[in-house]
Amino acid sequence: MGRDVVIVGGGVMGLSIALCLAREGCGVVLLERNHLGSGSTGKSGAILRQHYSLPLTATMARESLDVFSNFEEWTEGGSAGFVRSGMVLLVGPDDVANLNRNLELQRSVGIRTELVDNADISRILPHVEPGDSVACYEEDAGYADPVMTVHTLAKCVRGLGVEIHEGLEVTGFVVTDSKVTGVSTSEGEYSAQTVVVAAGAWADALLKDVGWSSSVQPMRVQSAVFRRPPELPGGPTVIDFPNEMYAKQAGETHVGSILPSEASPTDPDAYDEGVEGRYVRLALGRVSARFPAMSKSISFGGYGALYAVTPDWHPVVGEVGLEGLYLCAGFSGHGFKLAPSIAATVAAEVVGKKPPHDFAILRPDRFATGTHIETRYAYSILG
Ligand SMILES: Cc1cc2nc3c(=O)[nH]c(=O)nc-3n(C[C@H](O)[C@H](O)[C@H](O)COP(=O)(O)OP(=O)(O)OC[C@H]3O[C@@H](n4cnc5c(N)ncnc54)[C@H](O)[C@@H]3O)c2cc1C
Repeated sequence: MGRDVVIVGGGVMGLSIALCLAREGCGVVLLERNHLGSGSTGKSGAILRQHYSLPLTATMARESLDVFSNFEEWTEGGSAGFVRSGMVLLVGPDDVANLNRNLELQRSVGIRTELVDNADISRILPHVEPGDSVACYEEDAGYADPVMTVHTLAKCVRGLGVEIHEGLEVTGFVVTDSKVTGVSTSEGEYSAQTVVVAAGAWADALLKDVGWSSSVQPMRVQSAVFRRPPELPGGPTVIDFPNEMYAKQAGETHVGSILPSEASPTDPDAYDEGVEGRYVRLALGRVSARFPAMSKSISFGGYGALYAVTPDWHPVVGEVGLEGLYLCAGFSGHGFKLAPSIAATVAAEVVGKKPPHDFAILRPDRFATGTHIETRYAYSILG
């Protein structure tokens, strides 16, 4: 048997790490204060695009898309509810040069993506109003069902011997000779050689126990949900810079924001899970500007949800302060799609194997040392 590991958090990250560690032969206990998927993961758009500005994130998005589209293989028979919808990203004149540079980078790491002209866009997205936007199309992109993903992962890891306890909050860490040797909970202590904190928006509150700031800020965002009129069949996800929104065209159309200023600091234990009428009207205006027929859609309201945001909108992954204490959080509204690839590197680092990726740029001390990740777009969530 390998190392004993406690994972704090039952979102897509904690469960994916549990899977990779169990396959490395570790004894794994996963503790979730509420229920699986109840943090950011359950309400995730779970859009799986590969359009990123960094080789690391683009490569991980490509690898993870491969896992999600073959989830049965990864989880020994389960499903992530993957739908290969495709993705169209539209930018205004100011972002054309950045778009071209990103496409070059993405192709260099094996992603299939292409520039498309107005005639192509209209074929891929019937009833669209392309205007003077420039667009790219990722045919392989899609989306998953986040709740199904969580339950498939849970079933798989239980089958591999992982213990999952729901409704059990980690309240602090057990420290012996400057090394973390376990966690304390309302029901006593769990000892481990390594503790992995995959606590999303709650990471900072928990790490205060050992005097560490994770730099992860809980933020509230909103999504609006619309039933499309019959002439709009759905199809590819749309990421639309000029109209400052993304639209996932599943059974219903979910419209969310891409503006960092539309995420607001919140208390993750008391945030408003509803949507403001004002936001629904804003989202309807934005999506109708791209698809005029959406002005005849039916509004189903929407929801408020949590992002776990770092100052550069990229995650913090690595050891923090004390030996044996490992952080993996702060996915800033775009972490679902990266989970399988992130988890593979985290597991390798925990067991001391050569990791598939070098996470130097994601280390949790980067903000203290003044190093921020720079990307090409002003819309930080795009990465
Ligand atoms: C509306 C919305 C849309 C999104 N759309 C996309 C998208 O299209 N594509 C994409 O890639 N990403 C998207 N994301 C982001 C993505 O969902 C998140 O990055 C990802 O789910 C983060 O997973 P996680 O496991 O790190 O965190 P969470 O899912 O938040 O899990 C953390 C868990 O830790 C538990 N926990 C916290 N503290 C403790 C404690 N002390 N003891 C025990 N348990 C604890 C919490 O209860 C929680 O369940 C979206 C997010 C939202 C909210």
